[in-house]
Amino acid sequence: MAGTPLLNNWPRSRRVASRALAPLLFAIVVFLACLIGIHTRPVGFLATVWPANAVMLGLLIRMPSAGRLPKWIAGGIAFMAADLLTGSSLVKALILNGANLAGIAAAYGVYMRSPAAQTGLRQPASMLYLLLAAAAGGAVAGVVGGVANPMLFNGSALRGWVFWCATEFANYAAVLPVILAAPDQLRWRQRLQDSKSLRAADIPPVAVLLLSFMVAAWIGGPGAIAFPVPALLWCALVYPVFPTAALTLLFGVWTLGFISAGYVPAHPDDEMMLVSWRLGISLIAVTPIMLACVMQSRNDLLAKLHHLATHDPLTGMLNRKAFCEDAEKSLAGTRQPCAILMFDLDHFKTVNDTFGHATGDKVLVAFAERVRACLRAQDLFGRLGGEEFAALVFDCTKAQAVALADRIRSATREPVILDDGKSLVITTSIGIAMDDPADGRPVGVDGLLARADTMLYRAKSAGRDRSDV
Ligand code: GH3
Ligand code: MG
Ligand code: MG
Repeated sequence: MAGTPLLNNWPRSRRVASRALAPLLFAIVVFLACLIGIHTRPVGFLATVWPANAVMLGLLIRMPSAGRLPKWIAGGIAFMAADLLTGSSLVKALILNGANLAGIAAAYGVYMRSPAAQTGLRQPASMLYLLLAAAAGGAVAGVVGGVANPMLFNGSALRGWVFWCATEFANYAAVLPVILAAPDQLRWRQRLQDSKSLRAADIPPVAVLLLSFMVAAWIGGPGAIAFPVPALLWCALVYPVFPTAALTLLFGVWTLGFISAGYVPAHPDDEMMLVSWRLGISLIAVTPIMLACVMQSRNDLLAKLHHLATHDPLTGMLNRKAFCEDAEKSLAGTRQPCAILMFDLDHFKTVNDTFGHATGDKVLVAFAERVRACLRAQDLFGRLGGEEFAALVFDCTKAQAVALADRIRSATREPVILDDGKSLVITTSIGIAMDDPADGRPVGVDGLLARADTMLYRAKSAGRDRSDV
């Protein structure tokens, strides 16, 4: 999902190197996740966190194509190495890691067959599929746990199954959303740039969350576990899915630590109490992430609607309303001289009449792309309607506007290649209106468009394929 398109843009030698390195990096990450799990065990029975299975599953989901088998082997080696290097016996390591890998395979199978595999965490229902995959992973690992419990820990098989199942479920539910929602390489860079312009409105939700952790510790008792929930929901409303999932994971770890530190009456030796806490906390944690997914899909939808409302569906350029609104705002905010160029394709009706409307549409798209390519990123360009377009060019003198119009006219005259291989040459007439704030009262977009329209009419009357200012 995340890495593949990037890989495709790389040169072949780099792609080969990256494919060869991928299992190694994969193994290192899984190994480190195992070490975190192993080293948090002594902190307290309740605080046990085992992120390695969710980390391996998350990486497999995010990189489905590149070298699946080598990654499974690399993951298996990492699991075994972490256990053996920290003093586990070979039999114990084989049984425990057999459970880990079987659980990961089951969760992977369920997740990859669900619609969430296509949409990621951008859809409200994705979190439910993730929980289903977590339950499958837990149930399968639990079977091996049910065998391991009597063999390794002298416990009952059923209790072993329930305990493993719940623990696995809780770990997947807490860690997997963070990995699946983590931005890819390109978006990380963008996020880091955006974070330089952190808005003041971004701070209160996380500040209130931290405050609610403190109030919960101060008041204590079982109810205190729910204290951070409203702040987490606020985070979900304000932040994207990834930060929300990361803060929710923090909530999960904090809560387990909170319980094991004795703020809540618990019996660390009672396995069923432990199962109850783990399941309860991980299910509370689902809510903010699900809300963040709902907000994400709502924001995606709003962005799509906004694009539809402001862009011409044929050429993808700004529509008349958006062009005029953006131009009005830009003109009000600048003291630079600007030019408005108004374009009208010459004898376009003949193009339609001779080649058909579909070809006419193609010509409109080609023309729009050519003009856009002649402009700078900050200049505005839109379709006013039919075969008429306009551009607002910033920081532009009259001579520069005329030179730009000439460049656009010669780009327009380049033949348009049709589907049947034939080519077609079109021309455009251009009316130019200058806006120089130093000259006196600004005329506004409507005034400039009216002036450019008059100049366009003159260019047409003078024989077409020319500009007038
Ligand atoms: P002139 O040089 O005087 O501008 O002549 P013209 O033929 O370009 O002008 P006229 O206003 O007579 O015709 C414009 C044509 O543009 C008529 C209309 O069918 C066509 N047109 C408008 N919108 C579209 C469109 O979205 N697609 C296609 N294919 N044609 C369109
Ligand atoms: Mg026209
Ligand atoms: Mg025309």
